[in-house]
Amino acid sequence: MSYFSYQNGVLYAEHVSLAEIARRFGTPTYIYSKAALLDNFAAYDNACKKHNRDSNSALVCYSVKSNSNLAVLNLLGKQGSGFDIVSGGELLRVLAAGGDPHKVIFSGVGKTREEMRLALSHDILCFNVESIPELQRLNEVAKELGKRAPVSLRVNPNVDAKTHPYISTGLKENKFGVAYEDALPTYRTAASLPHIDVAGIDCHIGSQLLDDAPLLEALDKVIELIDRLAAENIVIHHLDIGGGIGITYADEQPVAVGDYLSRLFAKVDAWRAAKYQGAPIKVLFEPGRSIVGNAGILLTEVQYLKHGESKNFAVVDAAMNDLMRPAMYEAWHGVQAVVQHPASSQIYDVVGPVCESGDWLARSRELAIEPGDLLAIMSAGAYGMTMASNYNTRGRAEEVMVDGDRVYSIRKREAAADLFALESIPQFKE
Ligand SMILES: *Cc1c(COP(=O)(O)O)cnc(C)c1O
Repeated sequence: MSYFSYQNGVLYAEHVSLAEIARRFGTPTYIYSKAALLDNFAAYDNACKKHNRDSNSALVCYSVKSNSNLAVLNLLGKQGSGFDIVSGGELLRVLAAGGDPHKVIFSGVGKTREEMRLALSHDILCFNVESIPELQRLNEVAKELGKRAPVSLRVNPNVDAKTHPYISTGLKENKFGVAYEDALPTYRTAASLPHIDVAGIDCHIGSQLLDDAPLLEALDKVIELIDRLAAENIVIHHLDIGGGIGITYADEQPVAVGDYLSRLFAKVDAWRAAKYQGAPIKVLFEPGRSIVGNAGILLTEVQYLKHGESKNFAVVDAAMNDLMRPAMYEAWHGVQAVVQHPASSQIYDVVGPVCESGDWLARSRELAIEPGDLLAIMSAGAYGMTMASNYNTRGRAEEVMVDGDRVYSIRKREAAADLFALESIPQFKE
């Protein structure tokens, strides 16, 4: 079901017209649908319940980096979500949003001592460790605090996620995780460190996966490791399969979350029954895009139409600094006119005002538009605002959340003065 649909020729978010939102909040503006967020989270939650998992035996740890607005985190936290963070800043966001630190897992290849201290002081659920030096550093920091750090090793199952190379993370040649062959010795090291508790195992093979076959293949590899560790009396209490399920941007047909989780739990249950007398293992997920991606759009206003000899451009007031994905991954986002009108359509590249040829949001789209018209850039809820920058001294967009027929601002538009407030001009000595 779409939460953004036309009613009498005008595009709505739930029960609010986007034209009305533009009037009230201006453009560019990110708009999120609360119902979409709840439904997307429920797809995971319901599948866990259907397979007899409660919060002790399955936990969805929403990937904060996909959309970290406090309102989004608060909403998901209230549904029982945990959080997958990749920085100390994200932990502070989770806390500010009322999230439960005991449901936080900390991923990422470059955790600093300070970030480790912060996370340890809040007793997070687990550190997803990516190297031996990181293990050693964590052991030292935990010792200073008189604590033991729960860890999971991010293993690299070396399966091909068959997605864009920039968002594929489970192959040997990238910077993430511990190589599969190194996993056993690395676990032995972890088990030998006095301030480290081996808690789990994790992997995350990539993003925007349309098929769950690579994820189930990764699961097999992880299961094999858990068995080999068990033979050495290294007990793994949780298995974290990462995030990665894709969404529809154009005409992709991603696997349904419920179907993927059914297949995954069936495998896990069969394995536990065969080898562990049915003793359960907690399963963690780290979804980002599949929860927020299609719950958000970016609303923008057409400033100018430039009709060239070989190309037409629609210059809009949103740009690559607002939505990086096209410039960074050549990502495709749908573009819809907020008010459908009968003017004759033409083919446009939709571009922003930033001084870069890479500043485009969509290419070769048939649109019937005039200057002043509003466009919705679809499926922009994930890796949209969180990747936004202030390039060209452009304040970041307003963010609003729609709930039925109400709209709430969840982040004010940045003013130019906000952008240089931390800067200063030195009083140089003569
Ligand atoms: C980004 C990331 C995720 C979320 O990935 P999606 O494709 O958005 O579901 C999960 N885990 C880790 C470690 C990540 O880096």
